[in-house]
Amino acid sequence: MVYNDYYTKKAVGILQSIDNCRLDTDVSLSNLTTFSIGGNALLCTPTTISALMRVITALSNSGIPYFVLGRGSNCLADDDGYNGVIIKLGGQLCRCRVSGNMLIAYAGATTGAVSNLAIRSGLSGAEFCACIPASIGGCTVLNSGCYGSQMSDIVDSTLLTDGKRLFTYTNAQMKYSYRSSVLKGDRLIVLATKLKLSPAPRLDIQRKISDIWASKSKTQPLDLPSAGSVFMREGNVIPARLIEQAGLKGATVFGAQVSYKHSGFIVNAGKARSVDVKKLIDIITKRIYAEYGIMLKREITYIE
Ligand SMILES: Cc1cc2nc3c(=O)[nH]c(=O)nc-3n(C[C@H](O)[C@H](O)[C@H](O)COP(=O)(O)OP(=O)(O)OC[C@H]3O[C@@H](n4cnc5c(N)ncnc54)[C@H](O)[C@@H]3O)c2cc1C
Repeated sequence: MVYNDYYTKKAVGILQSIDNCRLDTDVSLSNLTTFSIGGNALLCTPTTISALMRVITALSNSGIPYFVLGRGSNCLADDDGYNGVIIKLGGQLCRCRVSGNMLIAYAGATTGAVSNLAIRSGLSGAEFCACIPASIGGCTVLNSGCYGSQMSDIVDSTLLTDGKRLFTYTNAQMKYSYRSSVLKGDRLIVLATKLKLSPAPRLDIQRKISDIWASKSKTQPLDLPSAGSVFMREGNVIPARLIEQAGLKGATVFGAQVSYKHSGFIVNAGKARSVDVKKLIDIITKRIYAEYGIMLKREITYIE
């Protein structure tokens, strides 16, 4: 029972007096992550900026660990859950709106909601987002992208908090690089991101999204739980290619399997646990290093 974990129990006492903030004990992380893996945790869902700031300040002052979760599509949650607080943005923090050619999305907004609004508003540039199962917060931090486009192409500015103050980073201040930004591994929280888009006919936008989806579903195992590409592409190093060349396509540790469709993905082929996925990642990393002298860098984040 997670509620009995030291930090979790302490956090409930501290957070329950904060308005506009829902607390749910013993929530399964397998339901909050696309890998469908993970034990239980205390889930805190602030629905306003001030509630989120109060939560962060209270947890920081008490030394209670927390993890800000988007849609959980780049994370592997531990089988034992999380001894701390999982924060997921809700309510107002999931809205998005358009102002001229700018689309302003709170960090909890899903990529689906953002792309639907962009289509309705006849704004192009965010089509790739529609094909990534994420929140705008996660995409902004990780500079997510596909098929030649990424967040750094469309981010105008980002509203952030450290729990005490609000401030804005311009695109340049985000120091974007491949699937990374200055915020990766930092404690700053994305509250909202302003996307600079361009007017285009709605049908063209929809066609672009359909084309990306068609291509993705041909090459990626979208029918099975996963967290996308497990390893980072670096320069000419394409992990999926190396994994396939090393004969690891289909390699399995209990329910965790290197996808037959895309060797860069590990899928949950049935009741996989986080230990199985970690073991498989370890096997792959060691084999690739032994065969090619290349140390693969993990892209997915462990929640532990
Ligand atoms: C089927 C599938 C296909 C995918 N395809 C792609 C693809 O084509 N391209 C691509 O780039 N990725 C892809 N991914 C990976 C994943 O969708 C992206 O990395 C995505 O941006 C993660 O967003 P998220 O909201 O789910 O973040 P999470 O997985 O919830 O979190 C990821 C990291 O971001 C941090 N974070 C989340 N929200 C905030 C916030 N508001 N403030 C501060 N930090 C925050 C978390 O703490 C964590 O460290 C795919 C994943 C799946 C499952």
